[in-house]
Amino acid sequence: MSPTIVNLVYLVAGILFILGIKGLTKPTTAVRGNMLSAIGMLIAVTVTLLDSEVVNFAYILAGALAGSLIGAVMALRIQMTSVPQMVALLNGFGGGASLTIALAEYFSVLDVDAKSFSDLLVPVALHSGAFGVAEEGTVALISIALTVLIGAVTLTGSLVAFAKLQGLIKKSHGLPGGPIGNGLILVGALVALGCLIVNPGQAVLILSLVAIALLLGLFLVMPIGGADMPVVIALLNSYSGIAAALAGFILGNTVLIVAGSLVGTSGLILTRIMCVAMNRSLANVLLGKMAASGDIVDADEIYAGKVTSAQPDEVAMMLEAAKRVVIVPGYGMAMAQAQHAVRELADAMQAKGIDVEYGIHPVAGRMPGHMNVLLAEAEVPYDKLIEMDRINPTFEDTDIVIVIGANDVTNPMARESEGSPIYGMPILNVDKAKNVVVIKRSLSPGFSGLPNPLFAMDHTLMVYGDGKKAVIEMTTALNQA
Ligand code: NDP
Repeated sequence: MSPTIVNLVYLVAGILFILGIKGLTKPTTAVRGNMLSAIGMLIAVTVTLLDSEVVNFAYILAGALAGSLIGAVMALRIQMTSVPQMVALLNGFGGGASLTIALAEYFSVLDVDAKSFSDLLVPVALHSGAFGVAEEGTVALISIALTVLIGAVTLTGSLVAFAKLQGLIKKSHGLPGGPIGNGLILVGALVALGCLIVNPGQAVLILSLVAIALLLGLFLVMPIGGADMPVVIALLNSYSGIAAALAGFILGNTVLIVAGSLVGTSGLILTRIMCVAMNRSLANVLLGKMAASGDIVDADEIYAGKVTSAQPDEVAMMLEAAKRVVIVPGYGMAMAQAQHAVRELADAMQAKGIDVEYGIHPVAGRMPGHMNVLLAEAEVPYDKLIEMDRINPTFEDTDIVIVIGANDVTNPMARESEGSPIYGMPILNVDKAKNVVVIKRSLSPGFSGLPNPLFAMDHTLMVYGDGKKAVIEMTTALNQA
């Protein structure tokens, strides 16, 4: 196939990837975005196979069929709450694929009884043609070594992330010495990488690099707490992209370089967005440290004698008189699987002429877009899901906010208490509304472990109970009113 045609088709695939990622930024265009990226990938894979003088398609077709079948069954059967671990697993496979490509390239060159390994890598680099310095076999060797390092870290790191989210690993143990232990393994990996570049023909060096990098991935993710896992998964997703881009350099495949770079950068951007929204530094997430404890906050002092509770039917009576209601969902809505019940409550309110919107915090729940996904599943119209920056100015004109299973994302301490560990985290300013109703089972804290002064405010009513049950009771009372 003419290289010009191949590169033009790769360009089309690259454009489809970019349009796809752009589409994924909004719920309304996400499905189309996903489809565009998938078409781009199909085009890229087809042209690569046709261009690569493949001798035998039988294995490739068998692999593609088996992979598609397993992928389709996984995607159809996966519970919404298990999506983060599936993403972790797929990232791990991506890292593993890049790792095996790098090893295969290395050993296929080594097989040719080399006098000078560096010289023999020249064909790999030349074959790639992807970079102008193709004469240097060392460039190919560095690409191989870096792919091995990042691919192996991504593989074991992602498998540990999967096992933690799946509840297979419950403890967060790391190496003795914590970050210092990990630092030593990283130094070991870099030494092995350096030695390999100096002595390319020593297969034992690349195998040592694989072993050390696998251990590094394991011990990097082991000490990180389960609730920080989504940030780690976003980061590992970025690593899998970088490994794929490097594998693209080894194979001289432009579209792999483009796709890998897109995954690498978008993963990094997502990691940053999540860290900012949680007010956590990436270093603290990676070192498994919670935010500095700051001033010790005594829950009894905040709540004692100040909390008012109400029954669902009392809330229904209040709703009768409301003109505007905002629903703020959080992790508890996901736990209670209350999204359909919430939509029915919103329908009942709207039938009575109440204006209803949803306030969505970027890190409500336990994965990016968690609330959007659940509410979309319950067929809540997208235009009712209002992002934090847009909903915040409207709270002062809101008669009632119904907070369902959200806690940290509504905690005024993030805005007001400078010593607080969550100080600086942007929140939904629900306390500015005229009345607040909080549905949760108790006064237990959320992910941050902090009490929430919102629950003790004069205009807040606590409805204790499972989110789904309480919302259903509210809807029934409202419909009967
Ligand atoms: P929180 O974790 O702050 O609070 C959730 C609340 O839900 C708990 O206080 C709990 O109270 C309540 N709850 C649990 N089960 C039920 C149930 N069945 N019915 C009703 N309520 C229930 O959740 P938020 O969504 O407000 O905040 C998310 C937190 O997670 C933030 O701190 C964020 O930084 C963090 N995080 C988010 C990630 C993301 O990607 N979205 C990733 C990692 C961390 P009770 O036990 O009393 O019922």
